[in-house]
Amino acid sequence: GVAFMDGQYLPMSEAKISVLDWGFLHSDATYDTVHVWNGRFFRLNLHLDRFLGGIERLRMNLPYDREEITSILKSCVALSGHKSAYVEMICTRGSSPTFSRDPRQAENRFMAFAVPFGSVANNEQLERGLHVAISETVRIPPKSIDPSIKNYHWLDLVKGLFDAYDMGAETALILDTDGHIAEGPGFNVFIVRDGSLTTPAFGVLPGITRRTVFDLCAEIGLSVAATDVSRAEIKQADEVFVTSTAGGIMPVTRIDEAKIANGKVGPITSRLMNFYWQKHDDPAWS
Ligand code: PLP
Repeated sequence: GVAFMDGQYLPMSEAKISVLDWGFLHSDATYDTVHVWNGRFFRLNLHLDRFLGGIERLRMNLPYDREEITSILKSCVALSGHKSAYVEMICTRGSSPTFSRDPRQAENRFMAFAVPFGSVANNEQLERGLHVAISETVRIPPKSIDPSIKNYHWLDLVKGLFDAYDMGAETALILDTDGHIAEGPGFNVFIVRDGSLTTPAFGVLPGITRRTVFDLCAEIGLSVAATDVSRAEIKQADEVFVTSTAGGIMPVTRIDEAKIANGKVGPITSRLMNFYWQKHDDPAWS
């Protein structure tokens, strides 16, 4: 892979930041991840909107504008030589030359990298569906950290993952402050009931893949709503799937001890998975 840092393109192994960077010390950073499929970015503008929106709300400043960031990301991909890549852009608070605790004195840093695309779910998992456990862990309250800012605060999600491993599952869903289903480590969740889709509305990252599912549903004519999803509702759903840039649409066929419906990947999930990958060949979706 290839990284961009301090105005230079470097091999990934040479891309290093100071331990004094507030991104590392305090998770004071925002980032976004976009993928390139067969040489084409998928929904880059939506990722840039979210990234630049987060930077503004965190009151950071970047020495690069949207066009320059776009060209840096494209150069990372071109220099990496990968036709399908996972591309990350990061802005950290940086560090203050005087060790000041005043974030206004830090010089914000931008970096980016492109590495080969490797889905978080393997083919076997996509065919049989994931086994997810619901952890009692609560996602960061939205009044504490604005969930629309993509952030590296994952202690809650990682705790959820260990709870899930202890329950014999392979990944986790954690809760919002009201005890409803929120999201998982790096993904949003949808349930299908009687042909209609629902996804949690509050306290979750507004995922670009989640948004893409809304757009796909609009084209196919499926109804989809963003509202609370209870633990009982998810277990009684006809179908469940999770969404992320790194894995696309991934079916879930087991939650805690119970199978979802007959335990097989459902027809609406399959249809959306196919449609999602088809859109990667459509320049209108790049
Ligand atoms: N929720 C969280 C906490 C995430 O970190 C991510 C992605 O990393 C997602 C959801 C999915 O978002 P997207 O579809 O934009 O990748």
